[in-house]
Amino acid sequence: MGLANLNDVLKDAYASGYAVGAFNAINMEFVQAIVRAAEDLDAPVIVQISQAAIDYAGVEEISAVARAVAEKASVPVVIHLDHATRLDVVERAIRAGFTSVMFDGSSLPFEDNVKLTSTVVRMAHEAGATAEGEIGKVPSAAKRTWTWEELAELMTTPEEAQEFASRTGVDALAVSVGSVHKMKAQQAMVDSKRISEIKRVVGVPLVLHGSSGVTDESLREAVRSGIAKVNIATALSQDFLGAIRSQLAEDPSVSDARVVLHSARQAVASSVAEKIKLLGSARKAAAGAGRGKMETALKGGEAVEKRGMGTAKIGSRTPKEVAKPGSKNGFVEDEPVE
Ligand SMILES: [Zn+2]
Repeated sequence: MGLANLNDVLKDAYASGYAVGAFNAINMEFVQAIVRAAEDLDAPVIVQISQAAIDYAGVEEISAVARAVAEKASVPVVIHLDHATRLDVVERAIRAGFTSVMFDGSSLPFEDNVKLTSTVVRMAHEAGATAEGEIGKVPSAAKRTWTWEELAELMTTPEEAQEFASRTGVDALAVSVGSVHKMKAQQAMVDSKRISEIKRVVGVPLVLHGSSGVTDESLREAVRSGIAKVNIATALSQDFLGAIRSQLAEDPSVSDARVVLHSARQAVASSVAEKIKLLGSARKAAAGAGRGKMETALKGGEAVEKRGMGTAKIGSRTPKEVAKPGSKNGFVEDEPVE
């Protein structure tokens, strides 16, 4: 199915009551881990690349990696810009091939946020991409902790969400409902009642940011209440680093960097898989058609993808078969463990 935008994957999630995972990637290993986990579970997926990751990796470079992996994928893959605060970054990302962008004007006055987000929506739609905006503020745990009272002050109200969504025309709306960015432990509970109230008045899929720190139970409840896109970054970074640390502790004399990166990639893939199962998007790949470039015919569990250049058979692989060591998606055969 390959490249998709947010509308391709979120429409069914919104209508059917599950959420699509949006996982942050900073390099090839993260992209491969995320897409592979999604393929193993036959799930639509969103690969997110932040403005900071673009500064780190280069916009053309990271886009090329993400597109190469996404184009070969058997599931819909959105390449989404996360938390852009500058229009030039949005423009460069769209030009580099991102299929979706988020503009974060949540720290701006309401009218400025409406104005700039509307511009981003227009830029994205002209390119066939989708756009996410944010109203209310999701804070960061990087430098301090937050009390529930403080968080409540920053939360999105249904009224502002409704006005913001209708005036900007965003395809998805990030809301502040109690989650906090960069939390290392799963301790946060979100305000599900508020999510339901916002969903009632906003006609677009809602996005939960800072989901690494939200408990599994609260995340499930948030999805039941109307969240259709769930952003996860910190947990994956911790898994990546944790695997590197333990691999090096086990064998401090390792001389092949691939040994370490392979473990890290595997750790990210299994963490992504757990989240996909939690969000209910496993086996939902066929519901996200992938940019209308191809038709997908489903015959007895067998998906056949017809492209302009011929017919490529995705086949009737079971998740277990796809998970076999080796050959898929750039995971090379001769790596030490799988
Ligand atoms: Zn975020």
